[in-house]
Amino acid sequence: MSNADMVARDLQVVWHPCTQMKDTERMPPIPIKRGEGVWLEDFEGNRYIDAVSSWWVNIFGHANPAINDRIKTQLDTLEHVMLAGFSHEPAVELAERLVKATPAGLTRAFYADNGSAAVEVALKMSFHYWRNTGHGEKTRFINLSNSYHGETLGALAVGDVDLYKKTYEPLLLKPLTARSPDCYEREPGVSWEEHSRAVFADMEALLAEYAHETCAVIVEPLLQCAGHMRMYHPVYLELLREACTRHGVHLIADEIAVGFGRTGTLFACEQAGPEGQPNGISPDFMCLSKGLTAGYLPLSVTMTTEDIYQAFYDDYANLSAFLHSHSYTGNPLACAAALATLDEFERLDQVNVNRRLAQHMADAVAPLKDHPNVGEVRQTGMVLAIEMVRDKATKTPFDWRERRGIEVYRHALTQGALLRPLGDVIYFMPPYVITPEQIAHLGQVAAEGIERAVST
Ligand SMILES: *Cc1c(COP(=O)(O)O)cnc(C)c1O
Repeated sequence: MSNADMVARDLQVVWHPCTQMKDTERMPPIPIKRGEGVWLEDFEGNRYIDAVSSWWVNIFGHANPAINDRIKTQLDTLEHVMLAGFSHEPAVELAERLVKATPAGLTRAFYADNGSAAVEVALKMSFHYWRNTGHGEKTRFINLSNSYHGETLGALAVGDVDLYKKTYEPLLLKPLTARSPDCYEREPGVSWEEHSRAVFADMEALLAEYAHETCAVIVEPLLQCAGHMRMYHPVYLELLREACTRHGVHLIADEIAVGFGRTGTLFACEQAGPEGQPNGISPDFMCLSKGLTAGYLPLSVTMTTEDIYQAFYDDYANLSAFLHSHSYTGNPLACAAALATLDEFERLDQVNVNRRLAQHMADAVAPLKDHPNVGEVRQTGMVLAIEMVRDKATKTPFDWRERRGIEVYRHALTQGALLRPLGDVIYFMPPYVITPEQIAHLGQVAAEGIERAVST
């Protein structure tokens, strides 16, 4: 079977996600036959470094032997059982370990099977908590501009990326939107911390006016990934935690993309606190997915507090239970993959290893900082983004219809790298098993690709 054969079959029957299918005339999907470590290999033996971790999910490489073994063992024991009225060891052990690993106060794990569902659970649980405690007047949510929380209708509603949301607006509940602390928007000479702190005034004002009718504030801690990899300072999380508590509003931390070591700590919320000695903040809900199973199987979990759990704990006839469910909730194979993932973090001391890899990522793109068509090179831990612009001084973007990011993508493919951009933002978000040499190669490929993209 050649690549062309596979593509021909694919295009007869498959409708791809996040894709204008007409684009496939010019850019057919790349059929992947196997994966190993950072590598993806097509049907003709071409290999690509998976520099975006297959949409940010893969953290310990493809076909990781330790994770494979754990899933195989689980497969021969129990593939699935429903989690209502039944239980199984992987779900229990994973919940125990997540309670230990996540910020203090998160003592309960509610499983679902994808990130959007974890967000839906948090939104419904927050609303339902307030209803169960006599606050049915709380029906709204506050989000940040440029945020992304998934694409089911509830999750889409609390996001703010027009590309995904605008068409469906008539179907969606209306959040209150505070300005994102995104530091790309800071004035020259202003630090990340000063900028994020100043922008918090907008959130404070919304809370002051609407807290009485608001269930929760939902944010992506430190990094708005789908919103073009925009980043902000942890001081914002510290201020937000304090303000949510003061105003009687829940805080939902959507760590679906940033959890599991992406930002330099196991969870991004850990970085809030004074410089050099952060002790982190505890949200009321933490949504986890993506890296949870190291990119193996769909699984998500919404972590929450004892206080919230207790507001649902009642006699059945009072009808205050949280009845949300998905068929594959807490699937044992997926939980086994997640347990193996947590084992890998410990065995490899991965959070510390990532500090060194992050430095290699910074070094690999250092020359790009001064490029006349690079508006900014920014980094948070294992995520590095390069913003291509028409004019560096004014940060004027290219016309989006020119789709220059795609030129970088196409060039990278010819050089053995999968660098799928977000518009004109080229980013590295690699599996943690990447080597310094491979990172250096990505830096080289990105620089060449950007040169081509801006000179056409
Ligand atoms: C990917 C993502 C989601 C949605 O997860 P899915 O599994 O794709 O539904 C939600 N929030 C954030 C921050 C994400 O990056």
